[in-house]
Amino acid sequence: MSISIEKNYQLDNLNTFNISAKAKFFYEFNTLKKLEEILNHKLLKTEKSFVLGGGSNILFSKDFNGIVIKNSLGGINITKDNNNHTEVEVGSGEIWHEFVLWSVKKNLSGIENLALIPGSVGASPIQNIGAYGCEAKDTIKKVQFIDLESKSIKELTNSECNFSYRSSIFKKDLKGKCIITKVTFLLNKKPINNTSYGAIASELAALKSQASPQSICNAIINIRSRKLPDPQKIGNSGSFFKNPIISNLKLKKIKEKYPEIINYKQSKTHSKIAAGWLIEMAGWKGYRKDDCGVYDKQALVLVNYGQASGNEIIELSKKIQQSVLEKFDIMIHPEVNII
Ligand SMILES: Cc1cc2nc3c(=O)[nH]c(=O)nc-3n(C[C@H](O)[C@H](O)[C@H](O)COP(=O)(O)OP(=O)(O)OC[C@H]3O[C@@H](n4cnc5c(N)ncnc54)[C@H](O)[C@@H]3O)c2cc1C
Repeated sequence: MSISIEKNYQLDNLNTFNISAKAKFFYEFNTLKKLEEILNHKLLKTEKSFVLGGGSNILFSKDFNGIVIKNSLGGINITKDNNNHTEVEVGSGEIWHEFVLWSVKKNLSGIENLALIPGSVGASPIQNIGAYGCEAKDTIKKVQFIDLESKSIKELTNSECNFSYRSSIFKKDLKGKCIITKVTFLLNKKPINNTSYGAIASELAALKSQASPQSICNAIINIRSRKLPDPQKIGNSGSFFKNPIISNLKLKKIKEKYPEIINYKQSKTHSKIAAGWLIEMAGWKGYRKDDCGVYDKQALVLVNYGQASGNEIIELSKKIQQSVLEKFDIMIHPEVNII
């Protein structure tokens, strides 16, 4: 079977960290048939493979010595509609933010708080993307994927996806074992208008707008554009670390020395700590060495100002981890996938 597989493919423009790296082989699919073709190809028996979406949650530490399979499966289709909900099936290669814009244009509610998150729809269930008091799991009904072992199409319902904070079954048991092909969302006809988180309410006031899916989406685009670096200008993958979750007992102890510590109640016994605050307190905000640094407006974001290598970013992240551990006795873990 002759299909178009590129060799020594440059990945610089396919990762938002703008890291210079090459793939030994590269293949792009935009139909299920094309995906099946590569999965049945002899190369897959000898080479390791990696599925690439928008490249906004990965950091290449070196060239990829295998085949990068780039997902461009498209399609947004309404499959059910009643007075309360609209069910929408979305191809996993659709751009997440474009889907959010599609949804708010139709006055549907549920994902407007997740506006401007880069990447593909197919990656949204993997780390259960979240922002501004909302998570992908709140609207995902089911996830369709190809099981790489049996090469059959399978489906998991929301509860079977085992969603949790920045995690799901796709980050654990199914990591590297499947390719997500379609995600089905249940969007609300009645606006949720979740404006309680961060600066949404004050941004709406500044825009002189009543809360609606469209105005909340606009407010979040404004807030995020001010706070986060645009990967087109400064390479980054958003939050580099996950916010750590610690026991309330430990929090109480830290509060004695740092009463201003930014924390959110997670459960009766545990609290989530703002990793950005920990990194800032450890003195890293605005740090720069050559082209590698910590963003000066948000310490949770590590940045590539130009020619930084993946390993330089990893080295910096390890130093940050160590100093946060020494100062607060809290271990922070990367959210980004290191390849
Ligand atoms: C400026 C900026 C801001 C961000 N803000 C947020 C935020 O607010 N909240 C948040 O949660 N995240 C945020 N992120 C992280 C990122 O946007 C999300 O994690 C996004 O879902 C990644 O999608 P992607 O398509 O780019 O995935 P990629 O980076 O291409 O891939 C990530 C991982 O998922 C796997 N993968 C991708 N697609 C598939 C598929 N179809 N099937 C199987 N495996 C697949 C890859 O193999 C890889 O392991 C931000 C990133 C940036 C650059």
